[in-house]
Amino acid sequence: MNREDFPLAEQTNYLDNGATTQKPIQVIERLNRFYLNENANVHRGVYKLSQLATEAYENSRTAMAHFIHCDTDEIIYTRGTTESINLAAFSFVEPLVKKGDEILISHMEHHSNIVPWQLVCERTGAVLKVIPVNDSGDLELVQLDELLTEKTRFLSLTHISNVLGTINPIKEIIAKAHKKGIPVLIDGAQAIARTSVNVRELDADFYAFSGHKMYGPTGIGVLYGKRTLLETMRPYQSGGDMIRRVTLEKTTWNDLPYKFEAGTPNIAGAVGLAEAVKYLEKAGMDNIEEYEQELLNYAEEKLKAIEGLKIIGDPQKRAAVLSFTLGDAHPHDIAHELSIKKIAVRAGHHCAQPLMNRFKVPATTRVSLGLYNTKEEIDLLVEALPEIREKFKL
Ligand code: PLP
Repeated sequence: MNREDFPLAEQTNYLDNGATTQKPIQVIERLNRFYLNENANVHRGVYKLSQLATEAYENSRTAMAHFIHCDTDEIIYTRGTTESINLAAFSFVEPLVKKGDEILISHMEHHSNIVPWQLVCERTGAVLKVIPVNDSGDLELVQLDELLTEKTRFLSLTHISNVLGTINPIKEIIAKAHKKGIPVLIDGAQAIARTSVNVRELDADFYAFSGHKMYGPTGIGVLYGKRTLLETMRPYQSGGDMIRRVTLEKTTWNDLPYKFEAGTPNIAGAVGLAEAVKYLEKAGMDNIEEYEQELLNYAEEKLKAIEGLKIIGDPQKRAAVLSFTLGDAHPHDIAHELSIKKIAVRAGHHCAQPLMNRFKVPATTRVSLGLYNTKEEIDLLVEALPEIREKFKL
């Protein structure tokens, strides 16, 4: 874990890791090497370059399976979390539900874990149910038993909130849902780079995440699915690579995971992502988690001491993500003023408008820390905020 490995993080005070992370030089150089030495299409050519590209692409899948503790053919490469959730919604959940059935999500979901379910409900007549969030920013789990009814067909839940930082007790929740025979998808977009994820231990049926939030390239992500479920599912997109045999009358599907990877995949993205996995494994997910908790505690204490600053929520367990309001200043003004001081934070609804409504705020400023951030960067932020508060006093 080395700040010097991240050229852009070194030049900026980058505190928007929840949106995307900066990339280590190892990932950047791996992408270069791929395009300089190995580029060809995969699974097709018998010539050397195609074999090299195929090997690099499939080795990436093996590395990813090792990283989250599953079998290689349970890793489906997608464009990112959003596509992974859409895939599960279309191929697994939609054929499973009928009018009056229920799909359960929570009030702290990112739009990409809300809208696909709304569309499934629209098309099937199923009903979307919601686990409430309390003032601390924790799920109201006392209501979970009532919400998991005989009509519930699926539960889709975030591991870590991208707004509040809440770490949900997903293992316990999955076990509860399974007791009633309900499969569960976990949105791991914010968790995958912050904590070690073992999908077998969690017993998650699906686990979705994005490469770009784990120090890898954009345009590549993962849907993990249990093989027994993936085997029964209809394809998501169709075309080349996902077929076994095509005649003009009928087509049969390829084996897992190719059944769900139609067309030329993001080969370079997968290769770069494997390098990010290597980086994270070398740094150690436990070390990353510990370091980010230290930064979080430091930031929380310092921010709390600022007059007029209100951190949204106080969950039982929080990852290094903090949303706040500051006096009368609009979050966009705060982010703009911080940008002038070369500090990058996020302002807005964070693709979680229902959660904003729940906390009765139109927007917040969000600080989300990563493995290369420092206490000095937090100090810069903390020094800048009182000035901004005064400037925008009504
Ligand atoms: N889910 C959560 C919790 C997120 O934070 C994000 C991105 O911010 C997403 C889903 C969507 O990820 P992507 O845009 O990479 O598909």
